Amino acid sequence: MKKVNAANYRKDKLYPNVCKAVTAILAEKDAVTPIEVFRRMDYLSESAEDDWRNGKAPYLEKVLIANLAKLSRVLRILHCHAVSSNMSWRIHPYTRKTKNGRMPLRFTKSGDRNLEEAYARHYLLKRKTPNPETHTCEAKPGSGKPFKRKQPVKNYEGGCLCGAVRYRAERGPLKVVNCHCARCRKAVGAPMVAWADFPAEGFTFTKGNPKRYQSSPDLVREFCVECGTSLTNHAVENPAVISVTTASMDEPVKVDMHIWTAAKFNWVVVGGKMKSYRQGEPE
Ligand SMILES: [Zn+2]
Ligand SMILES: [Zn+2]
Repeated sequence: MKKVNAANYRKDKLYPNVCKAVTAILAEKDAVTPIEVFRRMDYLSESAEDDWRNGKAPYLEKVLIANLAKLSRVLRILHCHAVSSNMSWRIHPYTRKTKNGRMPLRFTKSGDRNLEEAYARHYLLKRKTPNPETHTCEAKPGSGKPFKRKQPVKNYEGGCLCGAVRYRAERGPLKVVNCHCARCRKAVGAPMVAWADFPAEGFTFTKGNPKRYQSSPDLVREFCVECGTSLTNHAVENPAVISVTTASMDEPVKVDMHIWTAAKFNWVVVGGKMKSYRQGEPE
């Protein structure tokens, strides 16, 4: 089987379950451990965990209800997911009390150092530096309440650099956000990206077909396959709104707000009267 790594972990069948477990744990506290993830995924019962912690089971794998290959995949997915969510981690020594002091608890039969470490990691949320990599921009722009913006009745047209793809929007933008998140930056190759949200109804490609790329479970991005110009994105769960790169429009529209300024480059100064949000725009 292919090894789970940062490039492919989201495609692993176990990814949604690991994700769900992590989200549930983080709803209650700021840290996640593999043990808690195994508990949430029903790979470890409460009594089995107690047995291990009390030294009644010689090592954790003995009482985990999943084969070793699956366990190591969960550990890899958890690690990749936590790192991409901007969590930090440290090794937490697990021990149990004995008459002669504290004894280290073992996780594996083999005693493999890397695996022992993987089991002993604690992943910590960095509350002060929210991470757009896993956040709003991948579900937004496009979701949330329509921003009150004057919508002149006119067609908006635009297209890519080489002219192979052209589009038209028949109803004015609902909202225009300038996103500083790392995902948008990367997708477009620019320090920030201004997106105009149009109702998908009335938006059409009038020439050519862009290539689609699902950059995360929540978001699809489209670009010209000939010249690479980034054109749109839309949230998988909200296909009624399509966000268009204002820089690809024939007549770029004015921006309403900055979002994800917590992630912006240091040299970018956000000022003036325009609204700005450290993360995505509040719902
Ligand atoms: Zn973004
Ligand atoms: Zn093009």
